[in-house]
Amino acid sequence: MTSTKHPPTVVFTDLDHTLLDARGAHPAGAAVRRVWAHGIPVIPATSKTAAETIALLRLWGLHAPAVVENGAVLCLPGRPGRWRILRIVSQSYATVRLAIKRLRSALYLDMAGFGDWSLTDLMRETGLSPPQALAARQRLASEPLRWRGEPPETFLDELRTVGLTAIGGGRFLTVLPMEADKAVGACRLLREWTPFAHHPRIVALGDAPNDRRLLELADLAACLPGPNPLPDIDCLRTQRAGPQGWLETLHRLGVIK
Ligand SMILES: [Mg+2]
Repeated sequence: MTSTKHPPTVVFTDLDHTLLDARGAHPAGAAVRRVWAHGIPVIPATSKTAAETIALLRLWGLHAPAVVENGAVLCLPGRPGRWRILRIVSQSYATVRLAIKRLRSALYLDMAGFGDWSLTDLMRETGLSPPQALAARQRLASEPLRWRGEPPETFLDELRTVGLTAIGGGRFLTVLPMEADKAVGACRLLREWTPFAHHPRIVALGDAPNDRRLLELADLAACLPGPNPLPDIDCLRTQRAGPQGWLETLHRLGVIK
């Protein structure tokens, strides 16, 4: 890992439909390492779990921090090859699951989440491999749900009464504590993980509603094309996601030459 003591810029990036595409994780790792080699930290900000994200960081050979579970949890580099996992919201995964089960039965809702599925179901629903599916089930504060149709307003209202909310990613609707957000996670991470002498310039890349506040927080932001787009946000729009489009986006933002 190449780093610098006082990098002027830090890049927070969503993973699915932003940095990652169907070609898998290896080309994405090459793109990320190229930016780190410029002395610019690249920090995943993702709905993936700590276990999933750390597996990617290990694959990429990066002992880097990450904002995971949509900002509810941070992965902070610790001893060589180890990370400290920090849940920064008050409600746990068990609390989230309990609320979902209660509302599903009270409101007769036809929906299911990662915690309802067997490993085989989860692999079928997500296209993940067995080790990836096991890592995706290691959740600390948020639950992705698959719906038939739109979630009713009553469900969202009831979630709010118990301090929870729901936010759309690429494929799933994720229920999580209201206080969780990628922007909140990014700010907390910059306080917890501080190789910076001065407050860095924040660059953010994303594609979906769960990236909105992070893109709004950033000094420079870009929206890549995903299945669940953000039409009403003022930032650079690019045509191509995945490692190549991601590097082109950083180039257009002037972050890399
Ligand atoms: Mg995404």
